[in-house]
Amino acid sequence: MRVRYKPWAAEKLSEHSGIVVAEPDQLKGKWNEFFGNDNPIHIEVGTGKGQFVTGMGKQNPEINYIGIELYESVLVTALDRILEENVSNVKLLNVDARDLKEFFDDGEVGRVYLNFSDPWPKARHEKRRLTYEHFLKLYEDILVENGEIHFKTDNQGLFEYSLKSFSWYGLRLNYLSLDLHNSGMEGNIMTEYEEKFSSKGDRIYRVEAQFQH
Ligand code: SAM
Repeated sequence: MRVRYKPWAAEKLSEHSGIVVAEPDQLKGKWNEFFGNDNPIHIEVGTGKGQFVTGMGKQNPEINYIGIELYESVLVTALDRILEENVSNVKLLNVDARDLKEFFDDGEVGRVYLNFSDPWPKARHEKRRLTYEHFLKLYEDILVENGEIHFKTDNQGLFEYSLKSFSWYGLRLNYLSLDLHNSGMEGNIMTEYEEKFSSKGDRIYRVEAQFQH
């Protein structure tokens, strides 16, 4: 994603520490306490400008959502959305997904969403793909038993790679669509990238992959 550098973004994020959690390692194992309820915690890795996670938060007030994003210049737009929509069950982390285990205890997360993850098409960049086996191991550890990864992309190469990676890891594929927008799925919340690509006529691929223990 090309990101316009916004020098003021870091300051704005730090001014809203009730939404953009400043020291998430301090909340490891205590996220339900932080949210003030026992509702499940669903995370989106690579949340971008936050349209999905905010929309999900509005649609499902009985779920707690955490959007995780590397770049503060992008995350600041997600923060604006949450402020505008006034959703209390959506929080943000400005961290690298490689460090997920520093922030979440084993079994603390109810579901992982990956939407339009960077494809990293070159073979030598395989380890950066968010569906690479090392990331699957991280998700497996922080997820509840039989937890699920819900994955959407427009990128055929990344989708094929991810199906192989899920299958190699032993995940069960419960739902799979090669054309999400003509699949009859109800309640789909579109991401920014999904709107952009589907408006050009591109197909959207989707799968729900479930760990078997
Ligand atoms: N999910 C959004 C959407 O569908 O509109 C954004 C998609 S964008 C192609 C991928 C996002 O993932 C970028 O904002 C990028 O910074 C973020 N990202 C990539 N690797 C990440 C990592 N290791 N940890 C956190 N965020 C990451």
